Amino acid sequence: MRKELNPEGCQTYVSTGRGWYSHQCLNKPKVEREGKLYCGVHDPVRLKKLYDEKHKEWEKEWAETEAKRKRINLMTKYFEEVSTEEIEKLVEEKGDKK
Ligand SMILES: [Zn+2]
Repeated sequence: MRKELNPEGCQTYVSTGRGWYSHQCLNKPKVEREGKLYCGVHDPVRLKKLYDEKHKEWEKEWAETEAKRKRINLMTKYFEEVSTEEIEKLVEEKGDKK
């Protein structure tokens, strides 16, 4: 069972890295959010911001992947009637564009 959190400390359980053990965060509380104290690391507002930023990154990555997927699908559709050999020939003729 988890112990009651000391209201004077950061209101976060941290894992000790060993199995299921966790204890209250021992960092000095820096901010108060909705009547609860948190240290700079576990400040929910900061964490939310970090999460939102990560989320935006994920969304961007997803959009890029999706755009690539769409492109591949379109190309596949466009070249459906063309044999792979013919495409290879086309690519060779065009040369390396890099
Ligand atoms: Zn903390």
